[in-house]
Amino acid sequence: MTTFSQKRFFMNKNIGSIKRKTLLYKSKVDYGGWTINHIVGCTHGCRFPCYAFMMAKRFGWVKDYNDWRTPKLVSNALELLEKELENLKEEVSVVHLCFMTDPFMYDDTKNILIPEVKEMTLKIIKKLNDEGIRVTTLTKGLYPEEILESPYSIDNEYGITLVSLNNAFKERFEPFSSSYDERLLSLKRLSDVGRKTWISMEPYPTPNIDATAENIEYLLDKISFVDKIIFGKLNYNVGSSKYSGNDVFYRTVAGKIVDFCDARDIQYHIKTGTPLSEKSTVKILQHVGVNK
Ligand code: SF4
Repeated sequence: MTTFSQKRFFMNKNIGSIKRKTLLYKSKVDYGGWTINHIVGCTHGCRFPCYAFMMAKRFGWVKDYNDWRTPKLVSNALELLEKELENLKEEVSVVHLCFMTDPFMYDDTKNILIPEVKEMTLKIIKKLNDEGIRVTTLTKGLYPEEILESPYSIDNEYGITLVSLNNAFKERFEPFSSSYDERLLSLKRLSDVGRKTWISMEPYPTPNIDATAENIEYLLDKISFVDKIIFGKLNYNVGSSKYSGNDVFYRTVAGKIVDFCDARDIQYHIKTGTPLSEKSTVKILQHVGVNK
């Protein structure tokens, strides 16, 4: 029987739900480790294309693009986490949220974070931190004020994906995520009060896709406050692979990032498959303040 409070929940909810059998897993992303994806789908609906969407479609988790943009929360995520940590607590020192969805998903129709996603993400971070496990996060949404409250570890590392500051590019490739300015500002606010921050500059576009891509200096100048930068080329996009200067372009940009980071003591990792990548930096998120 559905209770009154359950009815209210169902009537008010903006997001569907599913149940899973497992939660924690080791990501195959080169710099990844233990990872949680507590949502299936993502309102941001990026069109680079999104690797997570391609995989979700291939494995039958979503039907199509619209289904991907209608996210479903893993309603038993906290129970699964509790159970899995009983066996894995000694082995897991850091967990990443998320590689296959977004932990602070943005609702561009209301200009807010999706409340159910935000709440679940914060509960998962708190649970992990309570167990002495550090968390790294990555979003194209915004960071909520709550993240500054005391229950969350000072050793967590908060990241945003930022590959351009060109709004015409954003409109075409990531139209439903938070604005570049707001996203950057929300990260800067965390940095300003002593939280550890990082940027994922991936998938970085070629100049035939984003006319401003060659001016990496402009973007780097805006993010010089972060502790870590991860850079990777754009894959799975016909336009970028057809770009005749692809290898030279990525080699040049990666070189500029390495020089920029070395000069400022910013940790960096150039992803496997991108020119100038090195295996020695692959554990960039596995340790606080350690690059090699
Ligand atoms: S934010 Fe990430 S998971 Fe979401 S659609 Fe964009 S690339 Fe995919």
